[in-house]
Amino acid sequence: MIKNKGINNSILELVGETPLIKLQRITKNLKGSYFAKVEAFNPGHSSKDRIALHIINNAEKKGILKKGATIVETTSGNTGFSLAMISIVKGYKCILAVSDKSSQDKIDLLKTMGAEVHICPANVPADDPRSYYEVAKTIHKKTKNSVYINQYFNELNIEAHYKTTGPEIWEQTAGKITHLVAASGTGGTISGAGKYLKEQNPDIKILGVDAIGSVLKKFHETGEFDTNEIKPYKIEGLGKTLIPTATDFDVIDIYEKVSDKESAFAARELVKKEGLFCGYTSGAVIQATKQYNALNMFNKNSFVVLIFPDHGSRYQNKIYNDSWMKKQGFL
Ligand code: PMP
Repeated sequence: MIKNKGINNSILELVGETPLIKLQRITKNLKGSYFAKVEAFNPGHSSKDRIALHIINNAEKKGILKKGATIVETTSGNTGFSLAMISIVKGYKCILAVSDKSSQDKIDLLKTMGAEVHICPANVPADDPRSYYEVAKTIHKKTKNSVYINQYFNELNIEAHYKTTGPEIWEQTAGKITHLVAASGTGGTISGAGKYLKEQNPDIKILGVDAIGSVLKKFHETGEFDTNEIKPYKIEGLGKTLIPTATDFDVIDIYEKVSDKESAFAARELVKKEGLFCGYTSGAVIQATKQYNALNMFNKNSFVVLIFPDHGSRYQNKIYNDSWMKKQGFL
């Protein structure tokens, strides 16, 4: 079925099949050609529509999700938006535990989308009862007829990207892709899309993007969960202070860590040079791509796909706001 041809029965039919756009200017000084998979074209404006819909459809099929059920989740905002949108269309209640690092824009959006929002401190260990992981678990336990999406530890998160994002990229590039650069949060995107692509061509390199302050890169390299790596950072949705099972570390060839400041500037540069208004982690992906280029990962024949996870509107009062940038000491 061609998307947008004829009538859609609901907004949910528009999830996925996002465009691949050639980057014209921002990667001009890097070796190879660069293409952006712009996930903001999903109806919920992020890649999280894919996993939210896949997990809910699966729960319905298995009979776990019954009429009038409540959907519970931990989320930096994007998954929450997708779940709230799907809950409205399908008639579920949606309760979200959100980290206080999430932008006010994102939190307001979730409320607009009819979700009940619980705000939890970001800088406490994952097993602390105040953490958004533990708060969501408690809500799930206390709420009858509820389903906990559990994106960090749900294999359907990887499967959603294995079944959609990966095949789309393979088809859109006519199999010419040589490298995938993707942000790693839950790890669902990079693991699912990466696994599919490597199955088509094992030579494709899967390049991860992690945040300075997160444990993922070190864990990938050493197998060690090193708490010395953990530091507060500003980028939402990137990196982790725990090891999610939704990340398949074997699929990922290498990680680069990026800073809050350089990622913010890269996102702003993306707007100025390409007219692409994307989120903070899209800036992180651009920044990591520059770092990978400096590490000689690419040559003139490289065909590099970058995944841009969400839309810039969610960061209007953060990286796109000069006062916020000044407050962080970035400007
Ligand atoms: N960017 C943003 C803005 C996100 O919200 C997320 C998800 N936490 C990611 C990137 C990372 O995607 P994934 O969870 O699939 O690794």
